[in-house]
Amino acid sequence: MCATLESDIIWDMAARKQVNPLVEARVLIQSARRCCLCFHLNHDFSEKEGQIGHLDHDPANGDEDNLAFLCLLTIVCTIPERVSTRTTKLTK
Ligand SMILES: [Zn+2]
Repeated sequence: MCATLESDIIWDMAARKQVNPLVEARVLIQSARRCCLCFHLNHDFSEKEGQIGHLDHDPANGDEDNLAFLCLLTIVCTIPERVSTRTTKLTK
């Protein structure tokens, strides 16, 4: 892992405010682990591995309306700077 990526991840983790576990659970249940962008753009309604993303790209904004379940491919393609170590935890 390059030094820049390591420092970006550390910064992202420091800036991230813990999402309320009840809000996190509601987002996961309501999405049924379907990626909102894959569904909207490709009508892909299959279950995905992914994580909850902040729509406004502000990790401190944990409002339910600001959160959406996104698949890993969508995250890497659209917001690679927001890839975090939480992915593994949320996909298990
Ligand atoms: Zn997707």
